[in-house]
Amino acid sequence: MPKNTNSQIEIGEEIKSDFLSNISHELRTPISIIYGAIRNIDLDLKENNIDIPVKSYGYLKSIRKSADRLLRLFDNILELTNIRAGFAGLDLIVCNIVNVIEDINFSTAEYLKKYNISMIFDTEIEERYLNIDPNIIERVMLNLISNAVKYSKEDTKTEILVKVYEDEKKVYVSVKDNGIGIEQENLGKIFDIFSQTNGCMTKNTEGSGAGLCLVKSLLEMLNADIKVRSELGEGSEFIIELPIAYQLDFDPYEEEIFEDFSVKKERLEKEFSDIDMGNK
Ligand code: ADP
Repeated sequence: MPKNTNSQIEIGEEIKSDFLSNISHELRTPISIIYGAIRNIDLDLKENNIDIPVKSYGYLKSIRKSADRLLRLFDNILELTNIRAGFAGLDLIVCNIVNVIEDINFSTAEYLKKYNISMIFDTEIEERYLNIDPNIIERVMLNLISNAVKYSKEDTKTEILVKVYEDEKKVYVSVKDNGIGIEQENLGKIFDIFSQTNGCMTKNTEGSGAGLCLVKSLLEMLNADIKVRSELGEGSEFIIELPIAYQLDFDPYEEEIFEDFSVKKERLEKEFSDIDMGNK
């Protein structure tokens, strides 16, 4: 069979992307209605003190979780197609990346404390001013942290270590977990769309396989990259690589810069909403 040429592959990718985008648009509305209806039923039951059988409550919960997961998947796909089509904008601002990461870590650690998940923050540098979009950094970090929670081991306390360090060219932000890990042969695939690697081998079949693909595309908008190291059964480490632009012409002590950054509770709730935290 003749091999596909590059332009054939590009056209194929475009058709795939259009199809995904259209289907996500079409399905998003009915799924939102299902999600809203289930929330209202839940509220009605609570407000009117109506007891329903535990089994039925379990069914309601699983409909709500599945609808939530689908909504997140569609939103991710729509955002991905937007980025790929060049429609997504950047909100660049000069800020101390160490502060941004520490603030994200602090808000998330507070939120996860009640689930007995520990998050440790460590940094080798005190400040490094970069011209970045902190909202993108927040999205990426929350995605990596929620994966660390989602792919944790059932019988082990989840520990997440966030570390910042740098060399002459880049600032590195590492998110390391002690979870189930990823098989070496799958490491190259996990940034592709729909790349669930753990199939039905574990309890964790909850993912949708679009999160890391979006993470990579968001980082590409900042000329940044992401790498992964992992050992099956031991844990994984995702390392964000942000280029240092020495040509940045500013004085952090004179210009108005962005310092305070805290993750809104609704963002955290949304990010962790499709994970079963029941056993945590
Ligand atoms: P999702 O989690 O929605 O399936 P992602 O794109 O976020 O999609 O992740 C792709 C796949 O990479 C996951 O299905 C999982 O197999 C693997 N993965 C991602 N993060 C981790 C992690 N911290 N530990 C183990 N496996 C992971």
